Amino acid sequence: MQPCAYLYDDIYLKHDTGSGHPERPERLTAIDKRIRSLPFYDNLVKIEKNKALIECIELIHDKDYINRIKSEIESGTVYLDSMDTVVCRDSFEVALYAAGGCMNMCDTVMDKKAYTGFCAIRPPGHHAERAQAAGFCIFNNIAICAKYLQKEYDLKRVAIVDWDVHHGNGTQHSFEMDPSVYYISTHQYPHYPGTGDLNERGIGAGKGFNLNIPMQAGSSDRDYIEAFESTIIPELDRYSPEIILISAGFDAHNLDPLSSIHLSSESYYTFTKMLLNIAEKHSGNRLIAFLEGGYDLDALAEGVEMVFKAFME
Ligand SMILES: [Zn+2]
Repeated sequence: MQPCAYLYDDIYLKHDTGSGHPERPERLTAIDKRIRSLPFYDNLVKIEKNKALIECIELIHDKDYINRIKSEIESGTVYLDSMDTVVCRDSFEVALYAAGGCMNMCDTVMDKKAYTGFCAIRPPGHHAERAQAAGFCIFNNIAICAKYLQKEYDLKRVAIVDWDVHHGNGTQHSFEMDPSVYYISTHQYPHYPGTGDLNERGIGAGKGFNLNIPMQAGSSDRDYIEAFESTIIPELDRYSPEIILISAGFDAHNLDPLSSIHLSSESYYTFTKMLLNIAEKHSGNRLIAFLEGGYDLDALAEGVEMVFKAFME
C-alpha cells in the first residue's frame, strides 16, 4: 500500500453560503466524518491548510479580479458576479486557504511523501474563470495547481480529468490553447454552464488537448464506464501525463438534487481504479483529486469513500 494524503481543515467550513444553498459547510463535515470512521484513517498523510500567496492565485486569475472580489467581499457583498456564488466576509480568506491547501497537497505528492491524495476543500473551483466567479466557485483550485506544478516542478504534461456532472468551463478556458495541460470532462449536456460541446477540442497549439464527453440526462454507470474505456483511458495512455488531477464532483450521483445522471457510488471506485492504472503506467503513481460538486450528503460521503477505497488498495 502506497501512502495516501488527505487535506481537510475546519477553516473550510467558514465559507458561509447562507441557508438553503446546496454548496454548504455540511458537505465537508459529512465527508470528514466518513473518512475519520474508516479503518485506514490513521495511516493517511494529513495535509495542512495553507494560505495561498496572491502571486500563486495570479497563475490563473487576473490581478484586477482578485482585487475586485477582495474589496467586494470586505464591503459585505452577498453575491459575487451571479446569484449562484454566495459569499460571506470570510470567503476571500477561505478561498485562499483552499487553493493553498491544494498546493500543499501537490508538494506532498511531488516530494513522494504520498502518491495519491484527496483535497476536501471548499469553495470549489472549476467554474471560476480568469476574471469571473461562477457556479459556487471563486478561485479555480485545480487550474492554479496545474500551473503551480508546471512552475515549481517543470512538468510538461498534466492531465485533468473532470467527472463533476457540470462542465468545468473555467478549467477548459484556462488551458484550451495549452498542449501542456490536457483537460478531459464528462458532464451532463445540455446543462449548466452551457459549455462543453464535443466540438470544443482546443485552440491553436492546444488543438487536440481538450476533450469533452457530453452525457445525456439519464446516463448510467454503463455509459460512463464505456466513455472511460473507449475514450478517456486511451487518450490518457497516448498523452502519457506526468501527473493526473481529478476534478472530483459527486453530483452525477443518482441521488444528487442538481442533475439527472444516475451514477452509483461504486462508479467512483471504478473510475479511480482506471485512472490509477494510467498513473501507475505513466505518472509515477501520482494522482490528486480535488473536491468540486456533490450535494446529497450521503452520496457525497460515500463517493469520497470509494475514491479512498481505490487509493488504499
Ligand atoms: Zn458540479
